[in-house]
Amino acid sequence: MLTKTHAELWSDFLIYMEERCSAAEFQNWIAPIQVVTERDSSEELVLQVPNIFVQEYLLQNYKKDLLGFVPVKSNGELALRFVIPEEPKKQVVFADSAPAPNDALPLNPLYTFDHFIEGPSNQFVKSAALGVATHPGKSYNPLFIHGGVGLGKTHLLHAMGHMIHKNHRRLKIHCITTEGFINDIVDHLKKKSMDKMKKFYRSLDVLLVDDIQFLESRLNFEEEFCNTFESLIQQNKQIVITSDKPPSQLKLSERMIARMEWGLVAHVGPPDLETRVAILQHKAELRGIRLPHPIALFIAEHIFHNVRQLEGAINRLSAFSRLIHKEVTEEMVESTLGELFQQHPQKRVSVENILKCVSAIFEVRISDLKGTSRTKAIALARQVAMYLAKELMTDSLMKLASAFGGKTHSTLLHAWKKIRNQLQNNENLRRQIDIARRKLEDK
Ligand code: ADP
Ligand code: MG
Repeated sequence: MLTKTHAELWSDFLIYMEERCSAAEFQNWIAPIQVVTERDSSEELVLQVPNIFVQEYLLQNYKKDLLGFVPVKSNGELALRFVIPEEPKKQVVFADSAPAPNDALPLNPLYTFDHFIEGPSNQFVKSAALGVATHPGKSYNPLFIHGGVGLGKTHLLHAMGHMIHKNHRRLKIHCITTEGFINDIVDHLKKKSMDKMKKFYRSLDVLLVDDIQFLESRLNFEEEFCNTFESLIQQNKQIVITSDKPPSQLKLSERMIARMEWGLVAHVGPPDLETRVAILQHKAELRGIRLPHPIALFIAEHIFHNVRQLEGAINRLSAFSRLIHKEVTEEMVESTLGELFQQHPQKRVSVENILKCVSAIFEVRISDLKGTSRTKAIALARQVAMYLAKELMTDSLMKLASAFGGKTHSTLLHAWKKIRNQLQNNENLRRQIDIARRKLEDK
């Protein structure tokens, strides 16, 4: 603890808080607080808050929690001081004036590319996001990112915001949730200031929009969004959109769907076992806890639906190990996470179930899946079955391989790698495997 800088202490606190409060609370109250780093040499932690309300909010609600992170004076009080910047920062900063201050952007400080762990399920989308963030408006436009809950869409969106802000300081960036956009319209309609809003949105260089699915069945808002969209795209201004489903499945007008398919549509899928382990280890490192590989593997095998749950597991472990001043052990994992595991128990998947399921989806016989036929359709289905076995089962490769009519473990590994690579650019295959996975896990 003593060797940590104030910035590191604060970053630990942010990580801890993220789990404690809602995303909105975190964005509105916690994220805008900044550490004044020059004071590292002093015992006292100095925080810059945008206004007194944020300070009071923090102290009223989280004083006890702060005690675990902030230096404490000899009288037991927090060694904490707040400063409020003298001149209120302008909310809207235009490109030709000073660079936009970071706090005008409601970006989660922890959602950066550095903290985003790459794996086969997100490699493609990450490189697309990096490409766009490096040359905003000049590569894919719009970039449309879709995938299930808790798989890192918002993380990537904010990472792009951070990177563009850092490297292109003169660009005017706006990051907003679709709800936020709708609220903005409602507010401006009330105040009869729609012109102002239009002018603002149309003057942006980069528009980052989270969760576009909330625009479904909001006809008037959809039209306003579509107009904004067109006006920006026509001026080569960058747009990035996230969604829980691909454009074609959104209940939006054809015009809107077509627009969203103009650029690049990229999918982010659930991370595979190896990536889950890497994510767990990264998050553990962030929180300063040591997580031995076998324990990370054990957790990753039991939590596989989304990354937010993996993160929750690490948060619990870190709180617990801090509390009892002990390193993480397997018993600790079982006693603190048992309940999490039960909520999302690993379904007992068997090779037999996988064969049945794949045979139904790919319309091939089970005996063919276990056989040696090299017909293209059969070989593909067999490889998918092997891929699923390695993904969903924890038995050794050798044991799994022998259940496929006595294949070798290298055949199985080869099949797994091949399918894993194909998944990256074969949308259709990804869908079939998703269906199989869901069916198997719901058994
Ligand atoms: P979504 O917007 O897709 O629902 P989020 O972006 O909010 O998901 O991600 C949920 C949590 O999981 C966040 O805390 C995020 O940092 C973390 N996360 C998701 N994917 C990754 C990844 N590949 N590497 C590291 N953290 C991740
Ligand atoms: Mg999100």
